[in-house]
Amino acid sequence: MAVIPSDQHITYQLQFRKCGKPSCSTCRTGQGHGPYWYAYWRQGSRLRSGYIGKVRPAGCKQGNPTEKKQKSTVAKTAEYSKASAAPALM
Ligand SMILES: [Zn+2]
Repeated sequence: MAVIPSDQHITYQLQFRKCGKPSCSTCRTGQGHGPYWYAYWRQGSRLRSGYIGKVRPAGCKQGNPTEKKQKSTVAKTAEYSKASAAPALM
């Protein structure tokens, strides 16, 4: 596994991962396992990545992942009500 350098510009991303096991209900029914934090940085011309874990890295300036999740749920709900309201207007 790659060692995350401290002298590079690191981009942090919260991602789900699928284990690929056909018997895994977590991957079959959802987005996979996680979310886990991953670090991305450039090494020369190559993009490297490193696994961090469930804990948000100290250098990450992104917001709380649960906060983000709530926002997207609200957006989806708004979209849905708009779509269902459209036929009634016509
Ligand atoms: Zn799985």
